[in-house]
Amino acid sequence: MYADSASTTKMSENVLRGMTPFLIENYANPSSIYRNGREARKALEQSREKIAKILGASAGEIFFTSGGSEADNWAIRGVCNRLKKEGKNHIISSAFEHHAVLHTLQAMEKEGFSVTYLDVYRDGIIKIKDLERAITKSTALVTIMYSNNEIGTIQPIEEIGEVCRENGVIFHTDAVGALSSVKFNLKEQKIDMLSASAHKVHGPKGVGALYIKKGLKILNLIEGGAQERNRRAGTENVAAIVGFGIALEETQKEIDQKNRRLLAMRNRLIDGIMKIEKTILNGHRVKRLPGNINVCFEGIEGESLLLRLDSEGICTSSGSACTSGSLEPSHVLLAIGLSHEIAHGSLRITFDQNNTEKDVDYILDKLPKVVDNLRSMSPIWKTQKLPIQNPF
Ligand SMILES: *Cc1c(COP(=O)(O)O)cnc(C)c1O
Repeated sequence: MYADSASTTKMSENVLRGMTPFLIENYANPSSIYRNGREARKALEQSREKIAKILGASAGEIFFTSGGSEADNWAIRGVCNRLKKEGKNHIISSAFEHHAVLHTLQAMEKEGFSVTYLDVYRDGIIKIKDLERAITKSTALVTIMYSNNEIGTIQPIEEIGEVCRENGVIFHTDAVGALSSVKFNLKEQKIDMLSASAHKVHGPKGVGALYIKKGLKILNLIEGGAQERNRRAGTENVAAIVGFGIALEETQKEIDQKNRRLLAMRNRLIDGIMKIEKTILNGHRVKRLPGNINVCFEGIEGESLLLRLDSEGICTSSGSACTSGSLEPSHVLLAIGLSHEIAHGSLRITFDQNNTEKDVDYILDKLPKVVDNLRSMSPIWKTQKLPIQNPF
């Protein structure tokens, strides 16, 4: 049973069907001028238009990348390295960004930029007042994720955009996790750049996009040929780009209905899991993605929990896939103020449209037993203190 859609999602069959012709029958380079090349180009541009329309943007504002990570790197470096020449070397972000943002910012600190990481508090949401206070004359960019990939909390994007616009600061948001459940209208939203990725919305891995608002100038990250209107070099991954368009369209179709179904499942699962003693819910209970559940069980070691659930046939995660395998607790859970001990016992369950009420039943049948069993084997379990109670 797959319950880890924040790590990646199953590719839809329609996506695969749409992609196949561009891998086998028409493999032409979209820059070639013969007919096959022109057809590949046409498919590429149709996908760009499709994605632009769903996001409420213009096709000319969508630039394809190798994924969400590249889009994040490009947005941050492209703006900041340009504005550095105008004396702007300050960046504002949050303490719990995806590593594609966080590690880019850390690298840039070594290159002479200064970065303010806004607190995300216990509920996993930044405060607008903190943002207003952090902006200075040398602020080049604000980069704050739309929704957090571990605890699913949704940030006040409209208000952040408003504050940035008022202060003449560029606003980038990593919306990779939000694409599956949020509706966008970039013509009206005050967002200057937005990162997207296909594999979190039932598309192929290795393709994404950066929305760059018309008129905004950013430096190239990848130099080479003239692809993507001279802004991102490299022969386009036509099949994947076509797949991305189909995937996003399918995912966003009847999204309100899908969200209602997910929400009911999520709430029932949270209610059930919270009956397990000494369990805390991480992140705001309501202002979170409809498919996201993130909890900590006191006295449990996250990795052992995942392995036990795996042997029951349940695929889940303790944090982001990128940090699994390391013994450091999640930076996200530390950022919302959990202790190392508590953060180690985390479990993230993320549902998508392929999950059903049966999955909720199955988890609620297996999980309490697994937690009980692990605790009964833990020598420290009985001696541990109660965690800070969940305030929501
Ligand atoms: C998955 C993810 C990324 C990385 O996207 P890739 O396409 O895997 O590079 C970036 N940000 C967030 C919030 C994500 O969930």
